[in-house]
Amino acid sequence: MSSTLKPGVVTGEDYKTLVNGAKQGHYALPAVNVVGTNSVNAAMESAAKNGSDIIIQFSNSGGQFFAGFGLEDSFEAKVLGTVSAAHHVHLLAEKYGICVVLHTDHANKALIPWVEELIKHSENHFKSHGKPLFSSHMLDLSGEDIDFNLSESKRLLERMSKIGMSLEIELGVTGGEEDGVGSDDDIGADNPLLYTQPEDCLRAWEMLSPIGHFSLAASFGNVHGVYKPGNVKLRPEILKNSQDLIEKTCETGSRPLDLVFHGGSGSEKEKISTAIGYGVFKMNIDTDTQFAFSKAIGHYVNESPKAFLHQVDPEDGTPYKKLYDPRKVLRSAELSMIERLDEAFIDLGSVGKSLAK
Ligand SMILES: [Zn+2]
Repeated sequence: MSSTLKPGVVTGEDYKTLVNGAKQGHYALPAVNVVGTNSVNAAMESAAKNGSDIIIQFSNSGGQFFAGFGLEDSFEAKVLGTVSAAHHVHLLAEKYGICVVLHTDHANKALIPWVEELIKHSENHFKSHGKPLFSSHMLDLSGEDIDFNLSESKRLLERMSKIGMSLEIELGVTGGEEDGVGSDDDIGADNPLLYTQPEDCLRAWEMLSPIGHFSLAASFGNVHGVYKPGNVKLRPEILKNSQDLIEKTCETGSRPLDLVFHGGSGSEKEKISTAIGYGVFKMNIDTDTQFAFSKAIGHYVNESPKAFLHQVDPEDGTPYKKLYDPRKVLRSAELSMIERLDEAFIDLGSVGKSLAK
């Protein structure tokens, strides 16, 4: 017996219903990084096509791009672009007939002000609509010491939980680089930083769970981006150790932590399903969908190169308008992104599992 939800952006208790539905049903939702209406709409279209709910997320730079890289005040653009994108999703998600979680990706120490401005927008939205603008934000202070990481997380969660928002935190380091956060240097299977300590997860649980809902990006050898095979060793059993420690110490039910899998692109399918079994409800996907989007544009241009050099063929006078129409080019990119997401929904086991009714 699973609960049902109204289609559209889900927040608060509905968000928790969505997370619990995924954990109990042993599936996870893809969290897709998007940068504009093309990728936002492709994400919602793919969810509708696959009968799955979906998480749509913005990095600070993705938000800025949504507002336009031409805006002079880049901080303001990061805030307003992300807010503008959120309004776009609120207006349309219901029409796609699925549930959408609106989230923002990695915010390191320097980006805390970005998150705080977004929370302000959610507080105002809560006053006028009874729900926040975003379902959740991520605060990634894994580069700082754990005391600072947890005290800042606590400070923001206290504010966010009042308006039904959830916080994603990170313990341990996801290898690789995502939009300027992190570095490629720490990739390598022997780096202990790439594996979250169960004791740290316990500390986070004890400190944050009394305040509000939080999810945890735990590191188990995952990296951002796609690298040479063999560079990375995924050890999902680390997730199980953390769950077991909290369950035993705090006498919770099984798998108390709501876990997030960063750097899902290029991961072994078998390790993905093991991780889901240990409480992962969200898997981020960015690199693979970026490639799918751009690959289609490259292919489209290669098919008719002359249409991208001349409006009219210089030899035989053929007009090329129908080929260079940006809608044709961008639609091919959307369809290619949707095709890659079809694969993600299958890998995560969420096909046909939408709670929207
Ligand atoms: Zn990440």
